[in-house]
Parts: sequence; structure tokens; C-alpha cells
Amino acid sequence: MEPRILDGKAVAGRVKAGVAREVEAFRTKHGHPPGLAVILVGDNPASQTYVRNKETACREVGIDSEVYRLEASAPEEAVCRLLRQLNEKTDIHGILVQLPLPPHLDARMLVEAIRPEKDVDGFHPLNIGRLVTGEACMIPCTPRGIVTLLERSGVSIAGKHAVVVGRSNIVGKPVALLLLERHATVTVCHSRTPDLAAVTLRGDILVVAVGRPQMITGNMVKEGAVVVDVGINRLDGRLVGDVDFESVWPKAGYITPVPGGVGPMTVAMLLANTVEAAWRLTGGVPAL
Ligand code: NDP
Repeated sequence: MEPRILDGKAVAGRVKAGVAREVEAFRTKHGHPPGLAVILVGDNPASQTYVRNKETACREVGIDSEVYRLEASAPEEAVCRLLRQLNEKTDIHGILVQLPLPPHLDARMLVEAIRPEKDVDGFHPLNIGRLVTGEACMIPCTPRGIVTLLERSGVSIAGKHAVVVGRSNIVGKPVALLLLERHATVTVCHSRTPDLAAVTLRGDILVVAVGRPQMITGNMVKEGAVVVDVGINRLDGRLVGDVDFESVWPKAGYITPVPGGVGPMTVAMLLANTVEAAWRLTGGVPAL
């Protein structure tokens, strides 16, 4: 059977169209659009690109975005003060601090200073705790993007064996929780997993978030598996994932491309989290 592409770009486009409708409904009711504040400290080139992409995406759906660019040497107290102001601003519904931060800043402490209802990255401990217990919360964008892409592409999750490679707090762990919540049997692998291939070969759904270019090869993938490649790596001047597309493609039932898979879903989910936060903070219920 010919493998099917999990087209993140197309699905993200549909999610964004829904967000744009919600933004318009919010604007009609409140007289102003939902607002997202992004704090960028320093001049990390990758972070600058990510922030520009987020600004563009906000513009596309009508969300008002404000980017606060601080010097790399900005003192922690200055960032905290800004966060406190943004927590209080009634026209700002989502706040995110672009990571990584310069080494003198305590990322954990700063994320905890964000009001949980405005924590659109879903990294605040309160949101993470609620994710663990399966309560309503702000779900981190990449994991939410992955399960949304699967669901909207007609991939069933319940009863499947999902293997997640990578256990980071922003991708591996939360996506494992979301898949568990949707009744998959979940195995999480990491750098200390002996014989990784023996585990990945058992995955009906294989999510790879490792940060090593083309590490997962065809001989590590079960015939007909759904393969989600989260990795974004630069190799010889082009973008490649953590999955070796050429060798995995013939074995997969479904596969995400890089670029055009998980990346666009992540941005779309940031927009969805922002408009949903705006509705919740103003006492309404989002229709997304
Ligand atoms: P981290 O570096 O935080 O985590 C990588 C994980 O991979 C760790 O748990 C590590 O294990 C594990 N790992 C490393 N080497 C191996 C190995 N040889 N075998 C098995 N497991 C291994 O990365 P992130 O989760 O932040 O990101 C992963 C990738 O996803 C990156 O390429 C990143 O650029 C990309 N990414 C893409 C996004 C998107 O929107 N598409 C969003 C976020 C990230 P251990 O814990 O033992 O060290």
C-alpha cells in the first residue's frame, strides 16, 4: 500500500481558518482582537526566525501580536516586571517567553511568573500538572499539534501501541500523556534505552523527537506504522527530520514530511491556544 502523507501544512491551514473565525467572533463581541505577547531576550538567530513566524501567523488570523525585544543582558527583574505587567493587561490573553534564554536567566522561574491562564506554551507547572491528571488545561503546542494532526487525518489512536522516542518536557513527555489520554498503550524511549530498534519496531504509532538527523531508519519501523517526525535539523543546507524519510517511507502507513508536517501544526496550535485563552479569560466558551 502506498504510504499516506500526514499533511501538516494543509491541516494547519484548516485549523487556522477556524481560529480566524473565532478571532472575528471575539472581535465582534469585545471590540478588539485577542492579543499575544511574545518576549524575546537576546539575538539568537533561530529564536528570531521563530518569533517572526509567530508574528506572521498571528497577522494571518487577525490576532494582535506584540513582541518585546530585550537586550541579551536584560536583568531577571526587568523580565519579571514585564511579565507582571502583561499578566494584568486586559488586551493581552496569551504570553510566551521564547526559549532558550541567555544563561543568566532562570527559564523555569520566568515561566512560573506567567499567569497560567495566559500561558499559551503550556509550560507552567499548573498546566503540566493538569495535563498529567487529564483536566482541562493549556496544552503545549507541539504535542497538541501532533495529536490534532493524527485525529484530523483519520488516524485512530485508541488501542494502538504508541512508541515515543524522546522524553523532553516540551515534546516527548506531554505527547506521551496525550496519547495515553486517548487510550493508546504508550512506551517512551530515550538515550538510555537499550536496543532502541526492538522497541520502535513494535510501534503502531511512532513519534520521534530526538534532535538527531535521520536517526530512525526503515529497519526500525513496523510495516504500516504511523510515523510522526518532530525533528527539525539542518543538514548540508537543507532541513531534515529525525526520521530517514527515504528508507522509512516504503514501510510506513502514514508519515509526516519535514518541513510541512509537525512544524506548521505547532504554530497553528499557538494561535488556537491564544484565542481559546481570550474566550476563557473573558468568560466565553471557544467553539474550536
Ligand atoms: P531535547 O534535546 O530536549 O530532547 C531530546 C530527547 O531525545 C531526549 O529525551 C534524549 O534522551 C533523546 N535522545 C537523544 N539521543 C537519543 C538516542 N540516540 N536514542 C534515543 N533517544 C535519544 O529535544 P526536543 O524534544 O526539544 O526536540 C526534539 C527535536 O524536535 C529537535 O530536532 C527539535 O528541533 C524538534 N522540535 C520541533 C518542533 C516543531 O515544531 N516541529 C518543536 C520542538 C522541537 P535523554 O533524555 O536520555 O537525554
